[in-house]
Amino acid sequence: MGARSVTIVSPHLDDAVLSCWHLLAGPGTVEVANVFTGSPQPGPPAWWDVFTGATDSVTRMQERLDEDRTALSIAGRRAHNLGFLDEQYEPENRSVEAIAERLAEVIPRDAVVVAPAAITVLGEDHRDVSDAALMLRASGHEVHVYADYPHALRQGWPSWVNGSADGATADILWADRLAELGVDRTSAEVAELDERERGRKLQAVSAYRTQIDGLAAAFGHVAGFPAFPHEVTWRLARP
Ligand SMILES: [Zn+2]
Repeated sequence: MGARSVTIVSPHLDDAVLSCWHLLAGPGTVEVANVFTGSPQPGPPAWWDVFTGATDSVTRMQERLDEDRTALSIAGRRAHNLGFLDEQYEPENRSVEAIAERLAEVIPRDAVVVAPAAITVLGEDHRDVSDAALMLRASGHEVHVYADYPHALRQGWPSWVNGSADGATADILWADRLAELGVDRTSAEVAELDERERGRKLQAVSAYRTQIDGLAAAFGHVAGFPAFPHEVTWRLARP
């Protein structure tokens, strides 16, 4: 992406590190925009927070913000936290348009936007952010999308990313979503982290201490978990 500044759009606190370490660790000005960083009203904790052992969702969000600062500092990066409510907190008036508007406020006019592709994700969070990035593209930004880990690896690695022998199902699932975005495997940019960067990525991912056990329970069987060594992005064509 050359010398231009880059903003990685991260639905949750951890997505940029899990999927775009090669950019965070790379040269140039790289910022992160975390979308779902809002605290819910006090009350019983929400489902993912319960799954990850929290007893209070307000406290948990504060812990996650602290973890993210630590993780990004390993790459010398910082984030804008947009404060939208995560799906688990059942937001009432969230919209793709509102997310796109806030992103436009924090992303420099000439920055390259790198956003989730929303490959085989469940729920709406990643998909809403991906759709918001398409709105930024329509308003003139250069937009790239990334394979969002660990969700995109729900059926394992596509064979073409890392030579996986059993990637046929993942190949099809990725191709379906990529077709919606107007890209395919031939236009993918695959970054393979070297040993040093794998180690630093592992250190950064491990900083998300409240999340790592929950992620392991859901995705620990995937090869390379949690510092997935191959990261994939696509540049989207202008509309
Ligand atoms: Zn996420």
